[in-house]
Order: sequence, then structure tokens, then C-alpha cells
Amino acid sequence: MRATMQNVPLSLNHFLERAGKLFPRTEIVSRMPDKSYVRHTYADYYRRTRQLASALLAAGLRKGDRVATLCWNHHAHLECYLGTPAAGGVMHTLNLRLSPDEIGWIAGHAEDRFLIIDDILLPLYEQFKALHRFEKVIVFPFSGAPVPAGFVDYEQMLREAPADFEYAAHDENDPIAMCYTSGTTGRPKGVVYSHRSTVLHSLVAALPDQSALSNQDVVFPVTPMFHANSWGIPYISIMVGAKLVFPGPHLHADDLLDQMQVDPPTLSLGVPTIWLTLIQNFEANPGRWKLPAGMRSLVGGSAVPESLIRAFARHHILIKQAWGMTETSPMATMAYQKAELAGQTEDEAFARMAMQGVPVPLVDLRIVGESGDECAWNNKDVGELQVRGPYITGSYHNVERDPEKFTDDGWLRTGDVAAVDEYAYVRLSDRTKDLIKSGGEWISSVDLENAIMAHPAVAEAAVIAVSHPKWAERPLACVVCKPGQTVDTATLREFLASRFARWQVPDAYEFIDAIPRTSTGKFFKAKLRERYADWQWPA
Ligand code: ADP
Repeated sequence: MRATMQNVPLSLNHFLERAGKLFPRTEIVSRMPDKSYVRHTYADYYRRTRQLASALLAAGLRKGDRVATLCWNHHAHLECYLGTPAAGGVMHTLNLRLSPDEIGWIAGHAEDRFLIIDDILLPLYEQFKALHRFEKVIVFPFSGAPVPAGFVDYEQMLREAPADFEYAAHDENDPIAMCYTSGTTGRPKGVVYSHRSTVLHSLVAALPDQSALSNQDVVFPVTPMFHANSWGIPYISIMVGAKLVFPGPHLHADDLLDQMQVDPPTLSLGVPTIWLTLIQNFEANPGRWKLPAGMRSLVGGSAVPESLIRAFARHHILIKQAWGMTETSPMATMAYQKAELAGQTEDEAFARMAMQGVPVPLVDLRIVGESGDECAWNNKDVGELQVRGPYITGSYHNVERDPEKFTDDGWLRTGDVAAVDEYAYVRLSDRTKDLIKSGGEWISSVDLENAIMAHPAVAEAAVIAVSHPKWAERPLACVVCKPGQTVDTATLREFLASRFARWQVPDAYEFIDAIPRTSTGKFFKAKLRERYADWQWPA
């Protein structure tokens, strides 16, 4: 017997058609370099995105060609998200926070043919252009100034685009976008998404237990559109016709709070460091801003401290922790309260929200211990987190299959170390490269950081391993205090003593002004390890 269903390929073009035809009056707001707001509708978006696709084809784009973007979060970047695949191309988001050398290397490795760039980023382009030659550099006049000679003007290109656009024929497995891992722990590697993987990820990530993103939402993507495609949220917003509000280049906490007053979001997303600063600035300036009560915020990219979840809960904002990677499209687990846990106490509920969450539909997950056997889901047995599914990468672009990254039976080795509890909540204890092994026992830097950040005087904390003559490694806690506050080592040790075994509590503390950040805003522990490589223990 055969199924009778039509064999229509999953396609992002369908999302674009929906946006234009079903939600033409919905707004897309962008914050411009001068801090003004520009408003478009989905009707504009539909027209302009198809013009972009038509112009790219007229410029000679062939199927599978890479069109790189070097842009902040705004409407034109969103046009590249669907316009490039509509023309059969592959959008490649370059990370503007990487060094010019890294950007040049990545563009060369991806063999990017065209580049679409914000005019305010041209000085950065000047620094890497010698490393890779783009056939065309298309400049989006974000600042409003005329586009300099020698470049293609994005707006003019759209105005002059041939009117007779037709979508490029495609298969659902054709590539639509690529993104390089941000390289927190090594050389960046390219992940290539397809129509199929992106549509499936969008459907899953929109479900009520995940983002619950609907047509009613006002979405504020603070996560850069070059960081795992802003976690797929632009695609999902277009799919359901949600209003989008983009911060442009203004990611300082005060700017984000200002923007929230103009278009109060119902759903926002960003890494923990962004929300840590945001809540501190908010609480330090009573009466200056209102937080949008009822907002949900998806937070991930690194562990979300329970103290942060509690701080926002006091303002009626739900922080939902997600775990994922560039390799997983990225949402692979999501923290939410399962109905099975209805009787738990408030403290238990907060502790669960500080875990990485439950695997989302279509993602299989297992923990593999040092012996090579799968670990039981008992919240104790810790091993490598491995995942498999239709929107999880099975290889890297132009990289030979690496047994360190993929198992023989086809699972992605995430490089994260975790346990799973009996309710299927993942608890991530570390990245393999951040693990601390003291006297033969593992110490979770994530658990220590979360506990230290719960101290009222502490703004931020990162814990790294430093070598020790007797214990091989010991934890060193790098602590940033809140403005005008201090805390001493003895107090912190005592604060941790009730939560950790004595040998797990750090003896070494460094009080510093700021924790270095990676290009996606995470704590840059590799930098701290470098800085304290010669750590001297008192004799
Ligand atoms: P990079 O590897 O360069 O940081 P990604 O942004 O793809 O690039 O990062 C994926 C990694 O981020 C995961 O493997 C994990 O270590 C970390 N991560 C993501 N979400 C969380 C989370 N909720 N809690 C802890 N770590 C997280």
C-alpha cells in the first residue's frame, strides 16, 4: 500500500508567500544607527525580498552559490534570510565580532561569491578584503549616507530588479543557509541548513512547550542573526506572521530597555550575559523604565543561572532556558514545567528551569559514559551528550568526517558533558574543554558559577581549572562584583560551603573588572585560562 499524500517539498518559499499574503499589515521594526526606528510591513517585506531574489539572479547567482551577509539585526538582513534561498542561493551569515583574519578565512573556506554588508561595517570589510575576493560587494545604506563608489547599492539594486521573478526550482534537501560555529573551543566549522531542516526546526521550535511563538507575538531578537541564525527565530516569526522588532547595532542594556518602551516585546531572546546586565541596569535605575510584564525570554548559548531566572520572575518575566548548538539548528532541549511535576515546590520548579531542559520533538538524545556505554537517566551518571535528528548536522562543510565529532552510528558528539534526570531534564555540567579534574574527581564549573552568581554582591562569575601540584587541577573563581559592592574570599567560601562538598569549593579567587566575552557574548573561559596559566599557589 502507498500513502496517498502529495509529495510537496518543504520550502522556505512557502513561508515567504504566507507572510506576504496572510499578514501584509504586520510590522517589522528596525533600529537604525542614529537610534531612530524604521517601520516596514510584511507586504513591504514580501515585495522587497522577492526583488532581492530577482536582483541576485540578474547578478548571475547560480544554484548553491553563497551570498555572505555582514549585518546587524534589521529588516534588510531578514530579506537576505528568505531572498537568498528564493533565488536558489545559500545565505552565509558572517560574524562581525570575529577578527578580520577569522572573517576572511571563513569567507574563503565557504567560497562566498557575493557579500551583502551594512555600510557602517565597511571599515571592517577593508581589514579582511585582501583575504577573500567577493565578486560583488552589495552595500546596505543602513546609516542613510550615499553608498561609496565601487560598491553595489542594495536599495538601487532592489529598485532595478527585474519584475518577472520566479522561485528557483528546488528539492527540500537543497541548502539555504550556512553558519560557522563561533569557535569558542576551536577552528570554526561550517554547518549547512536545508529547506527541510529549517522548516522542521521552525515547526518544532514554535510549539507551546518551546517558544510558543504565535501570530500574537512581538518578537525582539537580541541574539545576533549571525549566531545560529538568531536561533531560528526569524524563520519562525515569518512562518506565523509575528511582529518583529530588531535592535540594529544598539545592544547596550540601556538601549534595549529604551527600545522595549517603544515596542514592548512579548518574546525576546539573548545569551545570559545580556540579560544579566539588563536586569542590573534596570534595578539600579528605579522608575526609568518598565519591563514588559508577561514577556517570555528564551535564553541559552551558555548556562542560565537560577538567580537570573528568579530575578526576572520577580518582574513577571518567564526565562526559558534552551540548549543547542550551531550544529543543532539550534534548539535541541528546552526547559519548561512538565505536567508530571505539578506537585513540586517553587524551589524545585526554579531548579528545573535552571536545567537545560527536555529534548524537543524530533531530537534523540543520549549520554555516553567514559566506558562507551549509555548512562541511565538518574541525574547522577555523567557523560558526553550526543544527539541525532533531521535538523542536526551530520557533517561539516568541506571537512573530512571527524570521529571526534560524529559516532560510527551517526550521532553528533556535542562536546558537552551532562546527566539526565528521571523526568528527562538534561543537566549540563560542562563543556569537555572546561572540565576541572581535581584529585581524580570532576568538578562542574557551571554549578559553581551559578552558585557564586546567586550571591547578592556578585554580578558575574566564571570558574576555570588551574594546575595544582597535589590535586592536578583546582577551580579558580573569577568574580566580578556589582558596582559599589564587594565580597571577600572567606564570605564566598562560606556561601558555597552549604551547597558543595568541601573539596569542590574553590580555594582560589580573582576579583576582576569584567569577564572577557566571546564573539557571541559568552564568557570566554579560554581567555581566562590563558591569563591565569601561570597561577601560583601560596607555598
Ligand atoms: P560555540 O561552540 O563556538 O560557542 P555555539 O553557539 O554553537 O558555538 O555553542 C554551542 C555550545 O554552547 C553548546 O555546545 C554548549 O556548550 C553551549 N550552550 C548552549 N546552550 C547552553 C545552555 N543552555 N547551557 C549551557 N551551555 C549551553
